[in-house]
Formats: sequence, C-alpha cells, structure tokens
Amino acid sequence: MPVLNRVADLQPEIMAWRHDIHRFPELQYDVERTAEFVAARLREFGCDEVVTGIGRTGVVGVIRGAKPVGNGDLKVVGLRADMDALPIEEETGLPYASTVPGKMHACGHDGHTAMLLGAARYLAETRNFAGTAVVIFQPAEEGGAGAAAMLDDGLVERFGIEQFYGMHNGPGIPVGAFAISEGPIMAATDSIDIRIEGLGGHAARPHMCIDSVLVGTQLINALQTIVSRNVDPLEAAVISICEFHAGNARNVIPHTAELKGTVRTLTSEVRDLLEKRIRDVVAGVAQVTGAKIELTYERGYPVLVNHAPQSDVARRVARDVAGDSNVVAMPPMMGAEDFAYMLEKRPGAFIFLGNGDSAGLHHPAYNFNDDAIVFGTSYWIKLIESQLAAS
Ligand SMILES: [Zn+2]
Ligand SMILES: [Zn+2]
Repeated sequence: MPVLNRVADLQPEIMAWRHDIHRFPELQYDVERTAEFVAARLREFGCDEVVTGIGRTGVVGVIRGAKPVGNGDLKVVGLRADMDALPIEEETGLPYASTVPGKMHACGHDGHTAMLLGAARYLAETRNFAGTAVVIFQPAEEGGAGAAAMLDDGLVERFGIEQFYGMHNGPGIPVGAFAISEGPIMAATDSIDIRIEGLGGHAARPHMCIDSVLVGTQLINALQTIVSRNVDPLEAAVISICEFHAGNARNVIPHTAELKGTVRTLTSEVRDLLEKRIRDVVAGVAQVTGAKIELTYERGYPVLVNHAPQSDVARRVARDVAGDSNVVAMPPMMGAEDFAYMLEKRPGAFIFLGNGDSAGLHHPAYNFNDDAIVFGTSYWIKLIESQLAAS
C-alpha cells in the first residue's frame, strides 16, 4: 500500500504548517517561535508528554501506542526533524516567502518539521502500535550541533530511545522516491584556522621580511598534497582552504595572514590521518619559512554512518510507501549532518526524500516541495507501525 489515505487528507494542514514556519525562519538555537509552534501542535494532538527546552530550544513529544509490548520487543523509537533556517536572503518570490530579511528556510527544515508534526498527529490519533514513538524537533542543525546539545541534555536516557531515524529532502531525487545506503553516507566536517605571523616590511625589501602571503601560498599548496599523495585514492577526503586574508597596501609585505578551511572525510581513520598530516605540514612550512604558524584544528560533526539492519528497515518502509523501483541507493556525500551524533549513540538510519527538480539546498531560490509531504509523512508513520508492531 502506498501513501496512507489519512495522510493525503492531512496534507493541506501539514502544508499550511510548513508555510507558516517558512514565513518566520529562525537561526541556530534561536528557534523560539518554531519550537512554540511545534509544542502547541503536539499538545493539541494529545501527545502523552511534550517536553520543551531540551538542547536549549529542542522539543520532544512522546506518543504511547495502544498495543501491548511483548518481551524482547523494541520499545522506543525516536524520529528526528530539524527546525532551523539559514542566513540567506530568500529569492523565491513565493506568497509565503520569508518575512525576515536575511533569513530563509533554504534547507527544507520547515518541511521536515511539518511532516514530523503530521506523523505525530496521526500516531497520537490512531496509536496503532506497541511501545513508544518519540518525536524529536531539534534546533541548530546548520553548524550549531543542536543534535549533540539534545543528547547532552539526556535525550536518550530520559526517553529510553533505542533507535533513531532521520530524514532529509533531496533536490534532484524525484518526488515520490527515496534514497538510502548503509554505511558512511555523509562526511565528518572539521575546521582549520591558521594564523601566520611572518615579518612585515617594505615591499621593495623582501629580503628583510618573512612574507606571510608567500608562506600562506606555500601552506595551501602543501596542504593540497595531503589528499592527492597521503590518502588512499579509493578513500574520500576533501581539504578546502576557502579564506585567505592578508595585507591592505600594495607596497607593504603584510606581517600576518589568516587562512580558514574545511576538512571532510568519511571514515575516522582518514579523519585522523588528515588531522595529523595537516599538523605536520603546518609545522614543516613554519620551519622552512621561519614564520610562526598557529593552527587551530577543530573537530565538527562526525561521519554519518547508517547502521545496516536499520537501513534495511528504512528501505523496506520506503518501498512500502513509494514502490520498489522508487527506492534507490544513495552515494555518499561530503556534506555534513548533525544527525550523525544521534547515530553514534543508538543504531538507526538517515534517508533522503525526493524533492524533485528544485534549486539546490542552501540556494536562495530553493523551496521544499509540498508534493513530497505525503511520502515523508507516510514513511514516518509506517516506520513506527512496522518497527513497533505488537509481537
Ligand atoms: Zn542545510
Ligand atoms: Zn538540512
């Protein structure tokens, strides 16, 4: 059976929630309005518990099934959506476009939140499962590690969560299709900040200086040899230096320079290797040039690793919703996603939901596709009803 009839009936309402959230985008942990909206809906639906303020502005709804739980059955499953928007000026021209200058829902978290609310409504209404569904609405997915903040606040322990499932819309994947693979599918993302202190001076007297610009270029070149010469060519890795700041006059060799970049990897071994080699290269260039080079290497989101058994579950449920031919394999991506923290704590799976031929994520013309709502919402419901089926 494909999309649930009841979900098709709920679609206009879920879409209206999405448009409301879309109008008032909020960033990072400052998702007060969205969190209030979510908590109010969850209370209306009659969730058994609605807890706010987890991970600062995260919201959790607890829905207990009506069927008895058997011994040894899975008891508690967590479904996660994200609520935050991005610091981008919206250029969609939509009637429900952002009303907040410089902020927009350009990653579809408005859609994720609305779909999970739709599922919560259905599950609270029907309760046709055993055990407990925990619906999780997190802040600060976009670089703020909101998932980690909720875990630090005892998300797993307080609600007894045994498995986590997440979903993200995927532009380029047809509406009505899903994409998933087991294993590492999204990258760990680390940041590097480099401060070079050379010796400034007159542009015409370079021999009296240590040119921080030249040191910076040598460093960038040397860093680019790490992926090409140190990493196994069959492994994935990215080092991108995206900022280089130095100087403010054409005739002055600048005393200092600053570089900033990002490091992406799909395994902890390659991640460790890159960090070590970056430290070595920085030390080596400092020695060769005589500059002082300060490196701050900060580890960000971990690799998102889909667990095999739960990926099978997700695939099976997606096929049930979308049909066999509409569930495809997802090649790993070097983007990052903080749902990875949840999958470090408990087994689970992250699936991509087709958003059709839309602008890409984080683009000012991007919009979540309302036609995907019935598929995503049905997926959540069927996931709970099948994973928490009475034995
Ligand atoms: Zn995003
Ligand atoms: Zn996102």
